[in-house]
Amino acid sequence: VVKKQAKSVPPPYRERVARLRRVMARRKLDGYLVQNRMDQFWLTGFTGEDGFVLVTARQVVLLTDGRFDECAEIECPWARKVLRKVRTPARTAQELRKYRLKRVGFDPGHLTVAEHTGLRKAARGIRLVAIPGAILDERLCKDAGEVAAIREAIRVAEQAFSKVVKWIRPGVTEAAISARLTYEMQKLGAQEVAFPSIVAVGPNASLPHYEPGDGVVTRDQGILIDWGARVGWYVSDLTRMVWPGRVPPLMAKIQRIVREAHDRAIDFVRPGVTAHAVDRVARRVIEKAGYGPRFGHALGHGMGLDCHEAPRVGKGTETVLKPGMVITIEPGIYLPGKGGVRLEDDVLVTETGHEVLTSLPL
Ligand code: ZN
Ligand code: ZN
Repeated sequence: VVKKQAKSVPPPYRERVARLRRVMARRKLDGYLVQNRMDQFWLTGFTGEDGFVLVTARQVVLLTDGRFDECAEIECPWARKVLRKVRTPARTAQELRKYRLKRVGFDPGHLTVAEHTGLRKAARGIRLVAIPGAILDERLCKDAGEVAAIREAIRVAEQAFSKVVKWIRPGVTEAAISARLTYEMQKLGAQEVAFPSIVAVGPNASLPHYEPGDGVVTRDQGILIDWGARVGWYVSDLTRMVWPGRVPPLMAKIQRIVREAHDRAIDFVRPGVTAHAVDRVARRVIEKAGYGPRFGHALGHGMGLDCHEAPRVGKGTETVLKPGMVITIEPGIYLPGKGGVRLEDDVLVTETGHEVLTSLPL
């Protein structure tokens, strides 16, 4: 017989564990195995890179190893800690048996085929039930603490950008700008970059996911910079255009169109509308201007602990926006061989509408 959770679960984890238990009850599960690191962090505060969190009706068990012993002690002393010597499916199955579990949920997006096959064999008699996005869905709406962390990640990214822009001059390379951004963000308190920065000069900007290289800044070409910081595990994600000199007329034109798509989409953000509808508002502006085929990606995405999390703000996403969701709005027009323009801001859905969390001028 396993004794009850020794220590009570502190906020905000108490509420989050309770929410997961409600999902478990709905799906008639007596256990849920959390493998994704960000899911584990959201649920327990544990940041160790290796382990499982097992939630049962009464227990939150952290199955990890000696390397993360101290980390677990500091971050979630309330969880029942089990330090495993081997990380085999048999060891995990042993833990499931200890609680006499019959139906255990997991996220098929996070368990590899090999792990699933191994666990199924080792845990014979225990039904493993795939529940896609069980925790991701709960992560959709951010609480006040999470929004505060995102604001901080934005502040760091914006301050770093302002410093780097003052330093950019003809002759510097894309790679140097990217490195400088990383340096400034970390100096300002970022744990790391939220994702590898995109810095694209001139025609390179027509590739939405360009990797910075030896492109050199000149006076007559635009620079597209897409960057973000991770602070307190939460991220920011912005895109700005920098024009070291005159803006070429064609680029000025597409920037005006992208700006209008961006502004109108943000105006439209409010609780009750679908993510798809927000995308459509921006897409219509770009289509009417004749550049529809040159806007080849979704308008935006949810963000929080991951840079790209639900909801995708694009065609076919029927997710209805709710207060607490944080999404990016990032329309773009890309002209192969010529260049591209994208503008990206981070927007919080509020009770009455929205708040643009980012504040750098466009
Ligand atoms: Zn971005
Ligand atoms: Zn983005």
